[in-house]
Amino acid sequence: MSAPDRPVPRPGLLTIAPYVPGRSQAAPGVEPVKLSANESPIGTSPMALAAYKAAVAEGLEIYPEGTSRHLRIALGEVYGLDPDRILCGNGSDDILHLLAQAFLGEGDEAVMSKYGFSVYPIITRAADATIVMAEEEDYTASVDAMLAAVTERTRMVFLANPNNPTGTYLPASELKRLHAGLRPDILFVLDSAYADFVTADDYTVGVDLVDNARNVVMVRTFSKIGLAAARVGWMYGPREIVELVNRIRGPFNLNRPAIFAAAAAARDAAFNQRLREYNADWRDWLSQSLNSNQMRVLPSQGNFILVLFPDAAQAAAAFQALYQQGLIVREVGESYGIPNGLRISIGPEDAMRRVVDILKEFGGRP
Ligand SMILES: *Cc1c(COP(=O)(O)O)cnc(C)c1O
Repeated sequence: MSAPDRPVPRPGLLTIAPYVPGRSQAAPGVEPVKLSANESPIGTSPMALAAYKAAVAEGLEIYPEGTSRHLRIALGEVYGLDPDRILCGNGSDDILHLLAQAFLGEGDEAVMSKYGFSVYPIITRAADATIVMAEEEDYTASVDAMLAAVTERTRMVFLANPNNPTGTYLPASELKRLHAGLRPDILFVLDSAYADFVTADDYTVGVDLVDNARNVVMVRTFSKIGLAAARVGWMYGPREIVELVNRIRGPFNLNRPAIFAAAAAARDAAFNQRLREYNADWRDWLSQSLNSNQMRVLPSQGNFILVLFPDAAQAAAAFQALYQQGLIVREVGESYGIPNGLRISIGPEDAMRRVVDILKEFGGRP
């Protein structure tokens, strides 16, 4: 047997379909409006931006404090949490990867719902573990199906709540039921990336679940509230799990300006409130304006909506019609298995009105 003539990766890695980000390039000659990545339509918190600039002005020659302490303290204050049980990441993707690395290996299974966030299958495969998809009920995670998917090999369960790309969510009672049905050795990763936009009053961000168990972590991000470029996410969990992930994360995984920007953003309640209200208003307006015989808008608690067309061809035609006018939305066929859907981020007012005008052509027909 001859040795390979080049480095060979672990066998599972080449079966990973790379993450497909939302498109950002517009058709030639038109001004692009990016409605494909759930970014903030009202910019960045001015306080966060000022903190970022001040940190840059101090120079970049010194390593940041390695545990993002400044940010953990701010989060602790804002949310009433113990900073020692918070871990920060270079985006929450960083943390999700580390969790999978820490708890999954060959022969292990991770349960996720069918239309869940597309990063979960990637990190599961990256850890050589097996993806187990649970069916959903009308594009909403099903607790019964997820529990039924658990086997003795299950080590982790991933759930985004609200979910991306569907926008649907499980109420607190259902989360509790899901957790109650899991063995204590299964880690429940609750991804509350869109918590900042939820208006439903039966929702829980998950702090209560974390506090009452040793097998739950809650993961959040600053990306959807104006800091996507800074790459900041965080996790709140049991002390043992935080300490474990601290052992394997990059020693300086957040850059210093980002740490200061995120701490300021966490404290900028006025900006966060304005963003939440803007989002809720336009989410409602867009959802109502687009719902018709020919288009179904799933009820969303996120900063985006998922529009379902009668078939993939109509979704593709709608995508093209928007794209030709510079309105870039997210196709969810290839990466999410919803070929008749388009995900549309809640964006600037003018863009929302243009989306409705263009898509009207696709609705109302018998
Ligand atoms: C956007 C998103 C994230 C994380 O984003 P980061 O930019 O890596 O913090 C995590 N989970 C879900 C469901 C998301 O939509």
